[in-house]
Amino acid sequence: MLLAQEIIRKKRNMQILSQEEIAFFVKGISNNTISEGQIAALGMAVYFNDMNMDERIALTQAMRDSGDVLNWQSLNLDGPVVDKHSTGGVGDLVSLVLGPMVAACGGYVPMISGRGLGHTGGTLDKLDAIPGYQTEPDSGLFRRLVKDVGVAIIGQTADLVPADKRFYSIRDNTATVESISLITASILSKKLAAGLDALVMDVKVGNGAFMPTYEASEDLARSITQVANGSGAQTSALLTNMDQVLATCAGNALEVKEAVDFLTGTYRHPGLFEVTMGLCTEMLLLGGLASNEAQARVKLNAVLNNGMAAEVFARMVSGLGGPTDFVERSEHYLPQSNIIRPVYAKGAGYIAAMDTRQLGLAVVNLGGGRHRPGDELDYSVGLSKVRSIGEPITLDTPLAFVHAQSEEAFLQAEQAVQQVVKISEEKPDLAPEIYRYIRQSDV
Ligand code: URA
Repeated sequence: MLLAQEIIRKKRNMQILSQEEIAFFVKGISNNTISEGQIAALGMAVYFNDMNMDERIALTQAMRDSGDVLNWQSLNLDGPVVDKHSTGGVGDLVSLVLGPMVAACGGYVPMISGRGLGHTGGTLDKLDAIPGYQTEPDSGLFRRLVKDVGVAIIGQTADLVPADKRFYSIRDNTATVESISLITASILSKKLAAGLDALVMDVKVGNGAFMPTYEASEDLARSITQVANGSGAQTSALLTNMDQVLATCAGNALEVKEAVDFLTGTYRHPGLFEVTMGLCTEMLLLGGLASNEAQARVKLNAVLNNGMAAEVFARMVSGLGGPTDFVERSEHYLPQSNIIRPVYAKGAGYIAAMDTRQLGLAVVNLGGGRHRPGDELDYSVGLSKVRSIGEPITLDTPLAFVHAQSEEAFLQAEQAVQQVVKISEEKPDLAPEIYRYIRQSDV
């Protein structure tokens, strides 16, 4: 008979846990036979003493199997089931355009997304800015859309990975979120429960990223790549730049509008384009939808330029209850704030750097993110036309536009933008958008 306290003791003493012990503990997390104190203690023991790859794989698989695991076989899909996950950023609207692009190239993308966390935005909050869009459809509608449209972006259901819900909330309150082993299992258990053939991870690096250093981001990318491949999903990771707002906007409705502009070709921000193409290319390669990178890029450019990706997005939105003419008339449907006003720099030169985390927090403070779980959001607020690093700036070129509901909120955001966007006389060197790829063969 296994005992939770003996398992905690073993990890406290730096020993390796067996698959059976890990499965027993995870079962106890989901059926409440293991107490909050015991879960917190194991979390802290893992935080200090870590887990090897076999333990990480066992933890991920046990958590994945703690609830429903989606199975797409009965639908007889004629392409791979693929997805992408990002560790979170500011102005990171990649999911909104990537899902439709990959679906238009023949992939099936059942994307289960989250809400904003801390200073980062969440895909689900962005989609909630679209009137009528249901982020919690029943499983029949979700499956039908994945089959018929190729992509559906929805929220986590209560039946997927219940062990992570309990474990994550205890980690959050007991200072054990920052463990690469626990993050790997938490992220991957949720992604693998979606029944994927292939997964691409976007691990952000920089001052707007969740991981504190380049090295920590790389460790997480390697851990996720190894554990996911060890669990049967072909997986690669990209390390991408989060030292600035990824596109030009940060804020829920504003990012949806930028996604529509990207898909229709009205405007494609170069940084967003590069990161999206890198991730999509890897998804097509892992899913067997292209045999080399050049072929993948030709396919992806074609579905962007012939309108197919925009059409898939439109069908996903209307299939989930949004307006049937959303792509044509997104401005009519998306909420707008009372005040939309430019913020100017205090000196001329070049944009040299920005504190991306603080810009994300400025959006939260405008009402676009939550201070406490359950807070209502104002979808209209945020920043638009945010300048990128390296762009020249004069005293009368706006650094960004603030979308606010009150004068007071505008002034607070204006001050934040002026403080955290740094101007230099010299043109700065530009960092790459994609630092590196980590593939199965690299780990
Ligand atoms: N996001 C998750 O889903 N889990 C973690 O542990 C950290 C970030």
